[in-house]
Amino acid sequence: MLRLLWFILVVYLIVKLFYRVMGTQSPNAGAPKPGGQKAGAFSPKKSATGVIDEMVPCAFCATYNPARQALEKKGLYFCNEQCHEAFEKRGTS
Ligand SMILES: [Zn+2]
Repeated sequence: MLRLLWFILVVYLIVKLFYRVMGTQSPNAGAPKPGGQKAGAFSPKKSATGVIDEMVPCAFCATYNPARQALEKKGLYFCNEQCHEAFEKRGTS
């Protein structure tokens, strides 16, 4: 009998978790909209967490990174400090 209660509890938790995940897809009125961005090939995608992940290319190695994780220097994006330093050493001119 106890096993049945456990089963119900587990099913309840799974369903609850499922609805929690699905619930994030509902329109969020408080979410800021990206405005004034230049139109590119990449449109901002909404991840499961509702945070907009814009992919930006590294100015040095051209690897695309999420804008939140990318290193921004003088309007350019880099994977990390190493890419930025290498870019500075190489020079732009
Ligand atoms: Zn890079």
